[in-house]
Amino acid sequence: MRCGNGIEARQVDELFINIDPIQAGGRLTADAMKAVIAYGDGYSVCDNCRKPNRLDYISKPPIAEFHKDVAGWLNMDAVRTVPGARRGFQAVAQTYVKKGEPVLLTSLSHYTEFLAVEEAGGVAREIPANEHKLVTPDAAAAKIEEVKREFGRAPVLAFIDHIDYQYGNMHDIAAIAKVTRQYDVPIVYNGAYTVGILPVDGKALGVDFVVGSGHKSMAAPAPSGILAATAERAAEVFRTTSIIGDVTKRKFGIKEPEMMGCTLMGATLIGMMASFPHVKERVKHFDRELANHRVVTEALESVAGTRILSEFPRKHTMTRVDTTASFDTIAETHKKRGYYFSSALEEKGITGVIPGATKVWKFNTYGMTGKQAAHLAAAFVDIARENGIAVNE
Ligand SMILES: *Cc1c(COP(=O)(O)O)cnc(C)c1O
Repeated sequence: MRCGNGIEARQVDELFINIDPIQAGGRLTADAMKAVIAYGDGYSVCDNCRKPNRLDYISKPPIAEFHKDVAGWLNMDAVRTVPGARRGFQAVAQTYVKKGEPVLLTSLSHYTEFLAVEEAGGVAREIPANEHKLVTPDAAAAKIEEVKREFGRAPVLAFIDHIDYQYGNMHDIAAIAKVTRQYDVPIVYNGAYTVGILPVDGKALGVDFVVGSGHKSMAAPAPSGILAATAERAAEVFRTTSIIGDVTKRKFGIKEPEMMGCTLMGATLIGMMASFPHVKERVKHFDRELANHRVVTEALESVAGTRILSEFPRKHTMTRVDTTASFDTIAETHKKRGYYFSSALEEKGITGVIPGATKVWKFNTYGMTGKQAAHLAAAFVDIARENGIAVNE
């Protein structure tokens, strides 16, 4: 099948077990696929937009209800949809950060948090992760004190990733939020790898904002995501416009500048909404995902020389592994060089490992069946054996 203009239909998740670290949680549900077809047209959610004209007020399809449901589900007070987690960070940074002001990030923060700070003119100050690649509340407090000495004031905002993108480690954001609260620093919970994967309770965590990624973790089309806020912070980040045209004297009512009025206007939003009942259900069963993941990490660890670089026991299904002393030793002499590894995986129906990567790489087992996890585990062991790498029974 072709889509025209030289575009071939993509057949990746149809034909392979896909272990790409960033793709597993965004794979569409069948309902989201239907939504993409039904709401692909431009501004297709706007058919029944009535006064007050704003996306989150539309009741047919039930967009207003979705906003309320997501807020309740995250135990936050207000929600807006955004074109990706990054646009959520941007809205918050634009609200709180002025030129030259310090913002708290971590040594494991995602680049999109840095860019959001940069765009607002802020200065990045990172809490260093400890030797276990964990960001601790003590380190957060120490960094805030350091910032106060340097800038004469506390950071104006903090971004903390619950699960970081490098190791897939879980950081104690509730404890970190207690510290930031003592200094009156608003804190953003970056749930790019958790909202839609694990249960998230914003109030229990004590955070001001929860950001989620639709296309990373909510089985939604890209670009999509959510920004949730407490009532106090919602009044700030979701403030309404006050600009007036000098000639026409026009005003723009309840439009929100940080949202540029309206955000997701078609397949992205309706896709996220269509997946939502499935997503709400699946977060209750993350233990099954971890059980599958364990089968795979145990197989990898049985390959002599392989080291899992992420924390143990695993709390997430996205994991960083070092195979420099195992699979990489074959790359030097193999006729396919480093490509032998991804190509052997592909032959076994597995995709998503960067072609040529044999040293340090990441994978994600989210959404697999037990059978698929067993197949993946066996594939790693078989590729090791086929290449003469020792396997510990
Ligand atoms: C993927 C990712 C993001 C970016 O998410 P988008 O929805 O693509 O903007 C931000 N933070 C972390 C930790 C991520 O892993």
